[in-house]
Amino acid sequence: MPAGRALPARRTADRRYYTVQRKCCAPAGAGERGHAGPRQTLYNASPVATESHALSALPHSNGAAAPIGAETVVIGAGPCGLFQVFELGLLGIGAHVVDSLRHPGGQCAELYPDKPIYDIPALPVCGAQELVDRLLQQIKPFKPQFHLGHEVVEFAARADGRFHLATSGGVSFDAGSVVIAAGLGSFQPRRIGVAGAEPFEGQSIQYRVRSAAELAGQRLVIFGGGDSALDWTLELLPRAASLTLVHRRHEFRAAPASVARMREQVAAGRMRCLEALPHALLLEDGVLRGVEIKSPDGTLEKLPAERLLVFFGLHPKLGAIADWGLALEKKALRVDTEKFQTSLPGVFAVGDINTYPGKKKLILSGFHEAALAAFAIQHHLYPQKKQFLQYTTTSPIMHQRLGVPD
Ligand code: FAD
Repeated sequence: MPAGRALPARRTADRRYYTVQRKCCAPAGAGERGHAGPRQTLYNASPVATESHALSALPHSNGAAAPIGAETVVIGAGPCGLFQVFELGLLGIGAHVVDSLRHPGGQCAELYPDKPIYDIPALPVCGAQELVDRLLQQIKPFKPQFHLGHEVVEFAARADGRFHLATSGGVSFDAGSVVIAAGLGSFQPRRIGVAGAEPFEGQSIQYRVRSAAELAGQRLVIFGGGDSALDWTLELLPRAASLTLVHRRHEFRAAPASVARMREQVAAGRMRCLEALPHALLLEDGVLRGVEIKSPDGTLEKLPAERLLVFFGLHPKLGAIADWGLALEKKALRVDTEKFQTSLPGVFAVGDINTYPGKKKLILSGFHEAALAAFAIQHHLYPQKKQFLQYTTTSPIMHQRLGVPD
């Protein structure tokens, strides 16, 4: 995604939106740990769209301190991670799923939710978000435990053959096996890109809204032109002391209805909207006092502010996974094509994160990889167990696991 582009408008009612059973499938995650936005991604919160993403009954992390014992931990809730849960579930293996985003779906949900996909077998056309919703529906019988808004930041192979994992949210696991379905990496916010910003990030420069209430009475400058920027502009305007929206160009990517509402507020003199980029921070005794912006014709303007909210979108970053000692090739995990196992026995990798001769980064390929990895994981966990290939059409045990009456 280009800089300045915020989240796609999957949540706005005035765009084409493919979905099935959105409510039952929406994951837990929003509102966790005091987050104020009704439904937020990890960094790019969007204060609208609460209803269609009402928290479901899907179990999710409670941030418990004691390590959680798990047969398998799946890192990444993209389409391949979700289908991995299904394939494991068919074999009677339970999974915990961790994703740094606050919603499942990986790239499909984050980068192109409204776009149609044409190469999923037996679905001539399927919206990207619809695919995620269908996968969530499909794995429901297996009751996976989701830990959304958690990045896996620690990984270690233990002497007893099990694995220690820990998340940014303070959850740790004692896992018998691990599937890395981390796609292109964990989504991180695009940063403001001005000198000296780092010490203020997370404080007076924010990439997500922790609490709308704490911004009340403050002078705010919001950067961005997507839904997150526009939604928060409209949400925070009534409580801010002043609000200026700064976007690098006149056209916005956000939902047209939100843009129209914002322009009404500008016309009414309640806020400003400027075409510019951040240029420099205004500091006084080490305290952020505002930001200087630069318009396309080079004009500089100083905007006094207590808080800068930056919604330049997210980009994936491989992050900690690169340091876990697993064999890498061009930032992907090398796997075999029998088990989709990494260089460390018990640790598997499916989807866009892996590489092998002939690898194609397609959802379909990830689904195949997940099916074979599930058998390999079963063998890794229970080497004495005889493996049979069973069909979901005819297998009573699979029907039982799926909750299908015989
Ligand atoms: P991802 O979808 O990338 O999901 C990985 C997840 O892992 C992310 O949610 C990330 O947050 C999480 N994660 C990463 N690291 C960590 C960590 N350390 N801790 C916690 N979570 C972590 N493919 C097709 O087959 N057909 C198409 O038509 C098609 N169209 C596309 C259109 C666009 C615009 C794009 C960008 C891609 C398209 N693709 C298509 C590719 C497809 O989206 C990917 O192949 C697919 O998403 C890969 O799925 P995945 O589950 O491997 O990874």
